[in-house]
Amino acid sequence: YHVPIAVNEPVLSYAPGTPERDELLSTYRKMKSQVMDIPMFINGKEVRTNDTHALYPPHELKTQIGTYHRGTKQHVQDAVDAALEAREKWANLSWEHRASIFLKAADLIAGPFRARINAATMLAQSKNAMQAEIDSACELADFLRFNVQYMTEIYDNQPESSDGVWNRLEYRPLEGFVFAITPFNFTAIAGNLPAAPALMGCVAVWKPADSQIYSANVVMEVFREAGVPAGVINLVFADGPDAGDVVFNHPEFAGLHFTGSTNVFRHLWQTIGENISKYKSYPRIVGETGGKDFIVAHPSSNVQEVAVAIARGAFEFQGQKCSAASRAYLPSNIASDILDRAVAIVKDFKMGSPENFENFITAVIDERAFDKIAGYIDFIKEQDDAEILVGGNYDKSEGYFIEPTIVKTSNPMFRTMCEEIFGPVITIYEYPENEWSETLKLVNATGEYALTGAIFSQDRYAIEEATKALENAAGNFYINDKPTGAVVGQQPFGGARGSGTNDKAGSYLNLLRWVSPRTIKETF
Ligand code: GLU
Repeated sequence: YHVPIAVNEPVLSYAPGTPERDELLSTYRKMKSQVMDIPMFINGKEVRTNDTHALYPPHELKTQIGTYHRGTKQHVQDAVDAALEAREKWANLSWEHRASIFLKAADLIAGPFRARINAATMLAQSKNAMQAEIDSACELADFLRFNVQYMTEIYDNQPESSDGVWNRLEYRPLEGFVFAITPFNFTAIAGNLPAAPALMGCVAVWKPADSQIYSANVVMEVFREAGVPAGVINLVFADGPDAGDVVFNHPEFAGLHFTGSTNVFRHLWQTIGENISKYKSYPRIVGETGGKDFIVAHPSSNVQEVAVAIARGAFEFQGQKCSAASRAYLPSNIASDILDRAVAIVKDFKMGSPENFENFITAVIDERAFDKIAGYIDFIKEQDDAEILVGGNYDKSEGYFIEPTIVKTSNPMFRTMCEEIFGPVITIYEYPENEWSETLKLVNATGEYALTGAIFSQDRYAIEEATKALENAAGNFYINDKPTGAVVGQQPFGGARGSGTNDKAGSYLNLLRWVSPRTIKETF
């Protein structure tokens, strides 16, 4: 199969004086000055309702940027019907034509839509320009391009044949529809969760998180412009239970592609289990959920590298990546040196609106997240076995701002060493420098998750020991690097335990879940 070789979309710098900076800033300001009207998109048509809701940037709560039209169960039903109606034609379309559509979508994202999709992500999700760039421009384009390449590699995988016999594997799309539920924190994931099954010939109903609707709409604009036919990807805005009621009771429900919280995923899995006898096929269940991602430094590690990993790994996008470092284990010989350096880096971070490109830290996503994170910070302040080294203040008068906060505890099982906070808080435990092996066991045994983790060491024996001891503690394991920022085509992303089904976004492993292969044996 010959398809364009996938290469990672180069990350633009947005440095002062660059044309991309001027374009992004003027696009951001223009979009901010307007109120975007956001319909659902069902069966190739925009659908508006009387149930409209206003959208505001999390960092600027008085500026309305959008109004979206919320649907009912009936709209979700319409979306399912549209998907099933589109299925036969779409599933029978040759793969080259499906590939063309998504390759075009990638080019639109990397080209004419780049400023718009980045500005939308800055406005809706409060990402700074660089975080928006690596997500909504580069990662989304990468997902679409690499998936095309992986699709052809899957199709290429054929069984042996012998004299007089020709064996073939036909990678058929799933029979039914896929339900994609997408999270606020990555616009790339929003695009990928419906697009990956659609590329493989499936049809999808897509429900984004409310706080992502504004940028999801721009992704839908791209899919439309790229020529995704009516009914193949249907975008609905609805209450979770309403949507679930329609989708999970439907006999043709064929797959769930989910990124979000562990609790919601477990609940959906349970619902699917209860309804299992209703379905024509056993549904594919693919989920990426929570994390309690670690950094562990060996006594031999480079202190500056660890300090940078703590500051960036914990506080990029206000710690709202599933991959964000939220617990760290530092050896007593270098702990204070690392922490002094990390605190100094964090003190230099500027906080405010992403409209000012100097701001590294912006707001957290919404009031619920703000209150939850502030609650954890209040709890920490009351404890005797923990202290805040930097940060700890918060304010929601203009936007949901929380200072990046480093906490030190003398208790390795302290609450914030174990529970997911999903915000700009990292907790540090200083371990006795001669207890490396014991500490690795502790890291492995702490918390219910296994998404990402990073170890730092200059000692090859220590690196090998940690790699083995933490074999099941992280689906993405980083040696001498921060645990965030997986790149499509380079570090396939996902974890096990409470963190998900580990089907590795941005790899053939994920795409394999959206096919139902048929073996054909023909005898001559
Ligand atoms: N893939 C992202 C990273 O490596 C995280 C994705 C997520 O938060 O779900 O940082």
